[in-house]
Amino acid sequence: MPRYVIQLHQARALHYDFRLEVDGVLRSWAVPKGPSLDPAEKRLAVQVDDHSLSHGDYEGPSVIIWDDGVYSPLTDGAFAEALDGGHASFWLEGSKLRGGWTLHRTSDGRKPQWLLIKRRDEAAAAGVALAPESVKTGRTLT
Ligand code: MN
Repeated sequence: MPRYVIQLHQARALHYDFRLEVDGVLRSWAVPKGPSLDPAEKRLAVQVDDHSLSHGDYEGPSVIIWDDGVYSPLTDGAFAEALDGGHASFWLEGSKLRGGWTLHRTSDGRKPQWLLIKRRDEAAAAGVALAPESVKTGRTLT
């Protein structure tokens, strides 16, 4: 199964880099507030450049691997085409995130904007705070 990784990144503003392995690269989105397990909490996800697969293993002074796992597409046909079409759902099996999720594009342009939304299933929950530390090293950024 293809991999996903979420890196917590302290840049000018703290954000989560959500990355899905698709056709040999990591398709990437910057999620300022991070994912929410609450389907009512739609989180802005700004599409950024694809990254190399090896980038998903990186931790450093300003980056931790906040979550890591595998995913399976919940789309008919090629997952890359679903993403290119602006709407893709997938099932995550990670250390922190599980269950169904949807990425939905809401605007195009130089940095397309999407929403990252938890689907309603047994892994959905409201009011749950996810642990801050790296799933690889236990480090935190603050
Ligand atoms: Mn980043």
